[in-house]
Parts: sequence; structure tokens; C-alpha cells
Amino acid sequence: MPDLLQRTLAQHSPDQHGYCRECREASGIAAAWPCATREVAEEAEYIQRGGLPGTLGGRHRSSRA
Ligand SMILES: [Zn+2]
Repeated sequence: MPDLLQRTLAQHSPDQHGYCRECREASGIAAAWPCATREVAEEAEYIQRGGLPGTLGGRHRSSRA
């Protein structure tokens, strides 16, 4: 589903304060970017390009090692 993946990557982008534009509630509470959805989407894209699951670097890299 390349369209869904690209749409997800485009939607879950940071605002000027470093929070996800998509992951927020009406009250104004927003998830710090990159949000969990963005990280999953980036790994999906990485796997799509031939990467192995779980080998993409990121903020959880040290805990996965
Ligand atoms: Zn998000």
C-alpha cells in the first residue's frame, strides 16, 4: 500500500514546535515528533526498500541493540 505509506509519512510531519501535526487532540495536546506512527511508517518504508525489520536506527536503537 504505497499510497497509504506516503500519505502517512506526509501527514505525520512536525509543526514549528516539534510536535506531530496529525497526532493531536482537540484540546491541543500533541505527540512529540517523530510520533510512534511516523516511526512505524519510516520502518515500513525502510523495509520496502529492502531493509531488514528491526534494523533501522532511531531513538530506540540503543534499547534494541
Ligand atoms: Zn503522528
